Amino acid sequence: MFISSIQAKDFRFLSESLFDIYSTQGEEESTLLLNYNFQINKCETYPYFRSINPETEGNFILAKNLKASFRKISHCVEKNEFHPFVFNTLNELYHILQSDQIKTLTCNYGVTHSYFAVASDPETIQQRPGLPSHPSVLFDTNRMAGNFRVHMDEEDIKNTLLFFGARLNRQDIIPGMPHPFRKRIGNPTSLVFHEMFHWTGHSHYPKDNLDIVYLTQFCCFSHSEHSSQQKERACELLRDKSAWQKDLSQRKAYIKRNLLHKEVQSLIDAYHNQ
Ligand SMILES: [Zn+2]
Repeated sequence: MFISSIQAKDFRFLSESLFDIYSTQGEEESTLLLNYNFQINKCETYPYFRSINPETEGNFILAKNLKASFRKISHCVEKNEFHPFVFNTLNELYHILQSDQIKTLTCNYGVTHSYFAVASDPETIQQRPGLPSHPSVLFDTNRMAGNFRVHMDEEDIKNTLLFFGARLNRQDIIPGMPHPFRKRIGNPTSLVFHEMFHWTGHSHYPKDNLDIVYLTQFCCFSHSEHSSQQKERACELLRDKSAWQKDLSQRKAYIKRNLLHKEVQSLIDAYHNQ
């Protein structure tokens, strides 16, 4: 209880003070500087590349989502008696967020395509192309919008037609324009949190643990793809003493016996609408 009340207050404070320092710089004010050395850079098209909304306010929309994500985590920590492992990981994130390190959130469109966004990894020196030095996130606003790839050659178009069969005509495929069967990402604030949580070094499909990044995202944020029971189940798993116990072999046995990796995967698949 002691740990949880501290963290809730801390994340709330981050949210409330994020805009205490802010300025813009660069050509056409392409960079937004916020408190705690947050830099939002080139995100004019955030959250959705070629959306029908004017694409001039993207940096500010991302800054507001960032602020909202801290607030959400604060509420979530207040409400849930998470396992100490989960609290400690959130605490690690908090220390990165409030530190003097420069944290860069940047955007591009059509760079990753298989991902909505990518986060830097604390262990990797050479980050992925387009990613500023750690800690950073690169959002692909074309992917987030659910558009066709920006760059498609004849081979890509052929494969897309094969995949969707008779549901799609050749003339429907316009690179970088909305895909009739893909949805835009519904909750960009939740994606912002998800990516930053990777800064703690946790990645997906861990063998010896449950996926703390997805579970915390699913528990603390709402998604139209999940029922309220699924959301609550994610929270329950984060509170489960046996699922996060220190003893590795007992923990693995518990996860295996209860088919928890499979259960988490079904939550992930639902989120990605598969
Ligand atoms: Zn991820």
